[in-house]
Amino acid sequence: MTLDDRALRASWSAARPDPFWLDQAGRPDARPALDGDTTAELAIVGGGFTGLWTALMAKERDPERDVLLIDGGRIAGAATGRNGGFCSASLTHGESNGRERWPDEYEQLHRLGLENLDEIAATVERYGIDCGFERTGELSVATRTHELAEYDASAPDFLDARALRAEVDSPTYLGGTWDRTGTALIDPARLAWGLAAAAEAAGVRIVEHTPVTRLTRTTDGVAVVTDRGTVTAQRVALATNAFAPLLAGLRFHTVPVWDYVLMTEPLSPAQLEAIGWSNRQGIADSGNQFHYYRLTADNRILWGGYDAIYHFGRRIKPEHEHRDATYQALAHNFFTTFPQLEGLHFSHRWGGVIDTCTRFCAFFGTSHRGRIAYATGYTGLGVGASRFGANVVLDLLGGTPTERTRLTMVRRRPLPFPPEPFAWIGITITTWALKRADRTGRRNLWLRVLDRFGLGFDS
Ligand SMILES: Cc1cc2nc3c(=O)[nH]c(=O)nc-3n(C[C@H](O)[C@H](O)[C@H](O)COP(=O)(O)OP(=O)(O)OC[C@H]3O[C@@H](n4cnc5c(N)ncnc54)[C@H](O)[C@@H]3O)c2cc1C
Repeated sequence: MTLDDRALRASWSAARPDPFWLDQAGRPDARPALDGDTTAELAIVGGGFTGLWTALMAKERDPERDVLLIDGGRIAGAATGRNGGFCSASLTHGESNGRERWPDEYEQLHRLGLENLDEIAATVERYGIDCGFERTGELSVATRTHELAEYDASAPDFLDARALRAEVDSPTYLGGTWDRTGTALIDPARLAWGLAAAAEAAGVRIVEHTPVTRLTRTTDGVAVVTDRGTVTAQRVALATNAFAPLLAGLRFHTVPVWDYVLMTEPLSPAQLEAIGWSNRQGIADSGNQFHYYRLTADNRILWGGYDAIYHFGRRIKPEHEHRDATYQALAHNFFTTFPQLEGLHFSHRWGGVIDTCTRFCAFFGTSHRGRIAYATGYTGLGVGASRFGANVVLDLLGGTPTERTRLTMVRRRPLPFPPEPFAWIGITITTWALKRADRTGRRNLWLRVLDRFGLGFDS
């Protein structure tokens, strides 16, 4: 079944133009903005997962440390409150990317990733954070013959079409895998709000609506300058993700890429029964332009991904937050995947920016003689990895080498993107080539050259 364009549009056009996660009861009121000059031992810029984990773990490491977290908007207002809530153990944007780039280190990265996910689970438990944490794992599904050919049908986690459809019934499924331990699903806003509350209970000060405009060196630290006052800090953690970096040296290392999501109304018991999904796994399909989807606590389906939109000049503007053509494509693909759900409507639609880098997973570093450290470049898989990133940032600021800071993955930075117009031209050609590869199953010369140099564009 394919709904006509009008019926598709009707399924999403009345949806609220807000992230579902941020549009629910329990959102804390905004904390007051910075009010005049102050000092801090550690100032953290950015109140998404990276900044929040940095704040909480700084206090867990040293309860006496004076920590101030500054966000230019709202806590979890950016990617952290807008994502799919797939909390993956992967630190490398998937196994194949990790194995290709760090073959000698991959097993260690895999172990560290699983430990990181276990520790996220333990933190949720320890602080009683009500974020719907469910470690149901993730199904990867092939919906095209050439995608199926990439799977190892003899692997223990492989499911053929019949076994897969017994889990979740879509006529588009040809086969796939079920990784049972590597992913948990969470409500990202509730996790972030819970981390912020735990950090505040440990003594962290949080200010919102306070954009940091620049960082300058002082005799024994860093001045964190805002229009509402200056914070003189001994150390600074930068957790600003896809936004304009405050360090000139990072200007070309990431590009902001928009990713869009539709959320359905809650499914009725009959609708749910029509698709199965009783094990509630997260699901991702296998194309270059992939969808990710999952159930919420009240049995809605979050359906996101597919398009990854870059705007010339690394622009992040409010008018980019919605994109009708993408919503229409998402709705079309949703009803193709689940024709049983014809008549269902979407209640929310939204977009958010991810920080794509050329190696598709976070990179780290220091500046100002080790007084500033940063973690960025998660490329769409930062919900779990941001806690690892926060640990690296604290390790780097501490100055003593650790298992994490000795990793090649942590010590080396990715190649930057070129300046405009070359970034835009390169990304446009790559996006076109990736779409074509999805249709044909073949990577053209352009993609093969990028593969050869370990470069690319992903979401
Ligand atoms: C639609 C979408 C779906 C996604 N789905 C998933 C998923 O299912 N699983 C997954 O692992 N990842 C997913 N991601 C990626 C994931 O959300 C991010 O990697 C993660 O939230 C990054 O957290 P962060 O703290 O680094 O960045 P952010 O959440 O972007 O936070 C950065 C903060 O810094 C603040 N800031 C920036 N500049 C300044 C400044 N100059 N002064 C003060 N404050 C500043 C911003 O206001 C913002 O609050 C998704 C992302 C999007 C957009």
